[in-house]
Amino acid sequence: MVDELPRYCEVAVPVPVDRLFTYELPLALRHRVLAGCRVQVPFGSRTLTGVVIRTHAEPIAHEVREVSSLRDEEPVLDRELLDLASWIAEYYCAPIGEVLKGMLPLGGETRRSTRYVLTDPGRQVARQLILRPDSDPASRILGLLEERPRGLPYLASKVAKPRELLRPLIKRGWVAAEDREEDRDPLRAAAERLQAEFVSRGEAGEKLKKQELGQQVKRASEAARALARRGLVRLEMESLRPPNGFARDAPILNTHQDSAFQEIRAALEKAVFQTFLLEGVTGSGKTEVYLRSIEAALALGKNALLMVPEIALTPAMAGQFFHRFGKQVAVLHSAFGDAERAGQWRRIRNGQARVIAGTRSAVFAPIQNLGLVIVDEEHDGSYKQEETPRYHGRDVALIRARNAGAIAILGSATPAVETRFNASQNKYRRLSLPERVAQRPMPTVKIVDMRVEFLQTKRQATFSRELLDQIKLRLEQREQVMLLLNRRGFSSFMVCRACGERLLCENCSVVLTHHRRDRRMLCHYCGFAAKVPSTCAACGSDHIQFLGAGSERVENELHDYLPTARIARLDRDSAAGKGSFEHILDSFRQGDIDILVGTQMIAKGHDIPNVTLVGVVLADIGLGMPDFRAAERSFQLLTQAAGRAGRGDTPGSVIIQTLNPDHYAIRFAAAQDYEHFYEKELEFRKWLRYPPYAAFANVLVRAEKQEEALRMATQLGYVLNPPPDGIRVMGPAEAPVARLRSEFRYQILLKAVKRSTLREALRSLRAFAEKEKWRATALVIDVDPVNLM
Ligand code: ADP
Ligand code: ZN
Ligand code: ZN
Repeated sequence: MVDELPRYCEVAVPVPVDRLFTYELPLALRHRVLAGCRVQVPFGSRTLTGVVIRTHAEPIAHEVREVSSLRDEEPVLDRELLDLASWIAEYYCAPIGEVLKGMLPLGGETRRSTRYVLTDPGRQVARQLILRPDSDPASRILGLLEERPRGLPYLASKVAKPRELLRPLIKRGWVAAEDREEDRDPLRAAAERLQAEFVSRGEAGEKLKKQELGQQVKRASEAARALARRGLVRLEMESLRPPNGFARDAPILNTHQDSAFQEIRAALEKAVFQTFLLEGVTGSGKTEVYLRSIEAALALGKNALLMVPEIALTPAMAGQFFHRFGKQVAVLHSAFGDAERAGQWRRIRNGQARVIAGTRSAVFAPIQNLGLVIVDEEHDGSYKQEETPRYHGRDVALIRARNAGAIAILGSATPAVETRFNASQNKYRRLSLPERVAQRPMPTVKIVDMRVEFLQTKRQATFSRELLDQIKLRLEQREQVMLLLNRRGFSSFMVCRACGERLLCENCSVVLTHHRRDRRMLCHYCGFAAKVPSTCAACGSDHIQFLGAGSERVENELHDYLPTARIARLDRDSAAGKGSFEHILDSFRQGDIDILVGTQMIAKGHDIPNVTLVGVVLADIGLGMPDFRAAERSFQLLTQAAGRAGRGDTPGSVIIQTLNPDHYAIRFAAAQDYEHFYEKELEFRKWLRYPPYAAFANVLVRAEKQEEALRMATQLGYVLNPPPDGIRVMGPAEAPVARLRSEFRYQILLKAVKRSTLREALRSLRAFAEKEKWRATALVIDVDPVNLM
């Protein structure tokens, strides 16, 4: 008996439409196309790559088009990941095709390009043309396409503005655009250069370091890997070996660590989904508990996923993992090139890699037999993706663990309010590490009221006398200092004293920040840059002033006070290159830098024993943001920053400078008192019905013309009027950043008692936008938003 072959497939296509599309399978493909494979399908006048969700032989009433080609002989997404995609699409109200697009791992191996081809009617027209050099450009395009399909760059080399010329030709149905994906080997050229380099040096039997290679060849590490795959060179993991002092062997767990670990191990053995909240103060040794849990999972034949915030994935962290688990580790990092990622993806898929460490998107790694999922620093905002699909890596990780029957661990010293709330509702089992390892004390924290400092010194200073004295003292003792100021640039804005004018971005409704070393005024939202003005653009006065210190200025002023100190800065400006961030941290760790100045980057996760003083230059930045999470974020940042002090043998101290010494976020952070902060914050959330007491979403509309944005926002307002039962609608109103990247923005905030009603409301908005044929990017739906600006 022969099974009936599937005749159709349901395909998720990367377009912002909330449904699957049915295609017919050509006979030759019927036995080869499986769910999870990518196929190329005609879509309008284009060809797109979609993912097959299922195949079937159910009768279809209407006519459907045929699949053009199959891209994978083997599914790239397994059932588990397809299910995860459906969950994301549903929960975050995102089109399934766009969700899947973000999950596809091998984008890097193909190059997307658009080719233009003649249709049959177009070919007939072209045949009748007699082309001369002075023919009109549209005819010349038809002539060029008659030879063979061409891409835009080629056409542009022959005629001016080909895109505009093509538009009417496509409209008439003479030309069709075809999105193609070409397989490519981006590494071939680099690998060839590298090979030459190896051959010439190899004769001398020399080993090459990655850094040296980096100077010779772009993307050296990828290229080297490619060569290694061909057996031409041997890679040694030297660059991944932990920096000095990090190759420690497993310490004996202390009592708290051990009891946490025993519970986790018991759960791993039971192999029934469960979530643990590992709440451990800074320096309590959470990482060691992760490492042991991973060992336990591996011993049970299961694989493990460890997620870390973007910035925490330093060589030090990766080094620890390589030291423990060797070749079984795969690291996924957005800074890696596509090809490198694709290589890791394969190692995971075929089971060579069993411990997967990575940032947000690692949650989509093709791990088989998943037994343990760990989300380190689970409160960190970088787990939230700020573009469609706007998923939260932590929450998706929990769903993935649930679907796989795995154990999940959420770790933090400052859990997100929602997470801690779930633990109190017994959704998660709470494990706590209340003390630092090796009887190390928590740092002592002092608050310096900068208003009092001003009254006493009559000077507007960046540093208080106390902070400067402390810094000097620590340097004399050959200890190290970290200074936090969570704002980049030199001064945060420019204002005219004569007329009050501020210098704004051309594309956004935000002030430009002064970057002195670059001699530019920069927009931190869109990157717009302007010259530093010497007079006011509005009134011509030269009484302009630069106010508000940023990290660049802190570094500069510090040089004046401490001319012999070795000072470095770590923020997005100074750490622009991929290696540079690691390099700065590494020199700091080695003791080649005395003081590290930086933004929130320096507060995260680093374990540098010789740091005995942490100074917060101004704790108030961020507190005044129109965002209900402002207090929570400040508390977390300050507590985490304080937690960098005194992680070695010498006890640490912290100085927090502030203009709001009585604010609860600052007081409780200074006391390192999570418990009381949580209670207070929860009260406020309950009172105003913010998460965790409501399901929350931010709906944003954007358009280049203000009237259009306003009109769309008003229309959505009508759709939600009267508000559905159990939903509270706030807005439409101008978004806090009313204009961003040349688009005007209006927002509607929705609070719902139940998630299902929220989802329904959001879906009705999506349906409305679809019906009205709004531009794909005009409507943004952000479920569980982290950023409300
Ligand atoms: P956390 O992530 O909780 O802030 P870490 O995991 O970075 O803390 O641990 C802090 C330091 O303590 C690390 O250097 C780690 O190697 C060390 N450590 C962890 N557990 C122990 C232990 N049981 N005994 C001694 N040192 C430990
Ligand atoms: Zn002026
Ligand atoms: Zn801007």
